[in-house]
Amino acid sequence: MRRPRIKPEHLPVRHGGDRVRIGGVVRGIAADIDDPGGWVWALLELLDGSRTTDQVVADLARLHPQRPGADARAAIDDLIRAGYVEDAGEPDPAGLGAAERERYRRSRALFRWMDRTPRRTSWDTQLLLRGARVVVIGIGGVGCTAAQTLVVSGVGHVHCVEPDVVELSNLNRQILFTERDLGRPKVTAAVERLRAHNSEVRVTGARLLVDGPAVLRTLAIGYDVVLLAADEPPEIRAWTNQVCQATGTAWVHGGYHGPQVGCGLYAPGAGPCYDCARVAERERQVGLPPRTFPAAAGKPRVHAANAVSAGIAGQLAAHATLSLLTGVPRLRTNCEFGFNLVTLQDSFALGPESPRPDCPTCG
Ligand SMILES: [Zn+2]
Repeated sequence: MRRPRIKPEHLPVRHGGDRVRIGGVVRGIAADIDDPGGWVWALLELLDGSRTTDQVVADLARLHPQRPGADARAAIDDLIRAGYVEDAGEPDPAGLGAAERERYRRSRALFRWMDRTPRRTSWDTQLLLRGARVVVIGIGGVGCTAAQTLVVSGVGHVHCVEPDVVELSNLNRQILFTERDLGRPKVTAAVERLRAHNSEVRVTGARLLVDGPAVLRTLAIGYDVVLLAADEPPEIRAWTNQVCQATGTAWVHGGYHGPQVGCGLYAPGAGPCYDCARVAERERQVGLPPRTFPAAAGKPRVHAANAVSAGIAGQLAAHATLSLLTGVPRLRTNCEFGFNLVTLQDSFALGPESPRPDCPTCG
């Protein structure tokens, strides 16, 4: 590291005379450091990107001659390992032009903020996205939002798969389509709109019905992440799980049950799979009294969704995808996350902690 600097988003604050908080106020990022003598605070103030590591150590020794230089070097290494330090002297990244750096500089700031992994440069995350390929299956409410977020975020190749045409009842939530698109194939309209959002990335599409694991397998082997934004046919999540377990492809799904929105993210080989959770749920149900529903419950209801529920589910799926591609932020994988729009308070993570030996897919 040429000139170590505390990341601007992690600027430390001194509380009283004996405690320093670094990393802001966000849980999962911030940390408190005891500092009764003011030595840590002095070190952090010197890490402003204007000095080499040797100069920081020398200047700190002048301010606190009682502490050896080895302590300073160890503390700087600790701060780097903790993800609070970047190199103010980093060169411009190879592979990202000036226009791309301008386009993504606010993304860089947020990634840098959420990232606790030491990186070669502050642009590493964007470069990972630039080299990534994601297939979005289903360009409905969830898929429109998810695909749009991936494209504007700079994912290098986004491929859209969808069989249907645009209908009037789609326009309350499927944000890539306008009234002029009514009757057009969704995939045609979506690709056109996505390309207008970002000409720096590759956007492709296929008007295709996913009617079984064979189609999914073809898609899964060509991409880094499968983002499943379709809920039909009903077996599609189970198929995607089985196929991605076999191909080793990471996958994400986003969706909602009325006002309860959620996403799941799975990295095969890193923990329980989607079917493990279904096995665990069936086991849980066995111990409960039998449930009875009214006879009318089987009648079809209107699909309940708006731009908020579908959009948040799409954003959660996109966020999970960006996390799988970059490790920023490092989310728990192989589980489901949910969020309740009625209370805006209850978020939850679901799923067994470890793979089930009796899982039909990965056991
Ligand atoms: Zn499993």
